[in-house]
Amino acid sequence: MINAHCVDQEYWILQRTKCECGLFYKKTDVLRQELQDGPSDVLFVQCSNCGRANKLAFNISSFFGKPDFASFEKVCKDKDIIWKLFVSDSLKMESVIGYLRRLADDGDFLAPQYIEAACQHFISKKQP
Ligand SMILES: [Zn+2]
Repeated sequence: MINAHCVDQEYWILQRTKCECGLFYKKTDVLRQELQDGPSDVLFVQCSNCGRANKLAFNISSFFGKPDFASFEKVCKDKDIIWKLFVSDSLKMESVIGYLRRLADDGDFLAPQYIEAACQHFISKKQP
């Protein structure tokens, strides 16, 4: 199973995965997304080129059940979660570097590659 650290990364990996016909999957090839015990997230895909069905399973234990900013209103009522968000926000750079170091130590090289692509994406938006 592939480790994913957010749903966006699952789609990022999907678009770097080839169907048996040799073409890369597209976001629009996803028929449905199913949460399973583990916890894992399974993307059921059908190749828009050849029609073959496939599925990609992701281990999502790194972010499953954690608060996200989309659910901020709900999260505001939980002081424990707010404290964790505050701590992670005030120690931003340490958190990022520590996180990268941990991923490297774990040998999870897809995650740093994903972060690198995200950084390049945001840097490209800032260039004059
Ligand atoms: Zn195909």
